[in-house]
Amino acid sequence: MPLPCADWPSLQPGWVWLCGAGPGDPGLLTLHALNALRQADVVIYDALVQEAILDWAPQAEHIYAGKRGGKPSAKQRDISLRLVELARAGKRVLRLKGGDPFVFGRGGEEAQTLVQHGVPIRIIPGISAGIGGLAYAGIPVTHRDVNQSVTFVTGHDQSGNATGSLDWPAIARGSQVIVIYMGMKHIAHISGELMRAGRAASEPVAIVTTATTDQQRVLETTLGSCVADIEAEGLEPPAIICVGRAVSMRQVLDWQAQAAGEAPRDLDPLGRGRPAESA
Ligand code: SAH
Repeated sequence: MPLPCADWPSLQPGWVWLCGAGPGDPGLLTLHALNALRQADVVIYDALVQEAILDWAPQAEHIYAGKRGGKPSAKQRDISLRLVELARAGKRVLRLKGGDPFVFGRGGEEAQTLVQHGVPIRIIPGISAGIGGLAYAGIPVTHRDVNQSVTFVTGHDQSGNATGSLDWPAIARGSQVIVIYMGMKHIAHISGELMRAGRAASEPVAIVTTATTDQQRVLETTLGSCVADIEAEGLEPPAIICVGRAVSMRQVLDWQAQAAGEAPRDLDPLGRGRPAESA
């Protein structure tokens, strides 16, 4: 079926489109992603891209370029150069990355290498796990009563170490809601830093693993208990960790539980005592 409504861009031979695949659920692809999947000769995809999404590109060769967090960046260079090679061979190349390609996904580095090699590119944004994954868990990443800002941080740097360059006291002071990518390995360090900087041990925390997929799991816990609870529940990455009172909204907004027949746990979890829309 042709896509209606617009002159959809054509993926030309020798081009690379860097495209976000969203957090998992294929329904969270953009129409530009779908348009790209239909035209690609080659799809190079990451570990976090759900394989079902590749079914939308049956005509294309599918190349897995999975990388596990913390591995040296040499592999990254190989992936970038592979993209250059494929483009130079005259392929229509779709580089598919989990979430949004420019959010903690090294999309900027790949794009830069392509441009440095004279390969023309297009960037197709995607729904980032730190937004869409939380929405599937029933957590609004901003909520008027809770936060006027949100901070997205990565839990470890390129070498796999806890991010020493992050100013945790400043983040703890300045951001009511903190969304942590790649945070599972160093959650003890991170939660410790936040509490040392004055965040309460009782502050709500949610851990959302394999968000938006059939395997999605959500743990509601607190800064003080999250390490023990993650361990007790046996939660594994990939996970988004959300710190802040926005997590409480899940008590009224867990729409997946409600679709499965459960009643909302609390219609007014922030205790406003008045209708949600009133000023
Ligand atoms: N570009 C991606 C992020 C890549 S970094 C994006 O915009 O979403 C990889 C990290 O993203 C994972 O360690 C995890 O923290 C998070 N992530 C990606 N997909 C996820 C999912 N389906 N569920 C939970 N976390 C996810």
